[in-house]
Amino acid sequence: MKDLWREGTEREPCCPVCGRVCDTIYRERYFEIVGCENCVSQHEACETEACYEPRYAVLGL
Ligand SMILES: [Zn+2]
Repeated sequence: MKDLWREGTEREPCCPVCGRVCDTIYRERYFEIVGCENCVSQHEACETEACYEPRYAVLGL
């Protein structure tokens, strides 16, 4: 499989969100692609204000 990939056209995996070449893709729970390691960043939840806002969507209000 790897040899076939190397011999084929130079296809590199690109993120459909930002278009950059990437190794890792991130999907949300419905498998929609959210981004890649280039355009998705990780943050401390305790330092993110949005994590303390009321979750109306979850509560169904
Ligand atoms: Zn990306």
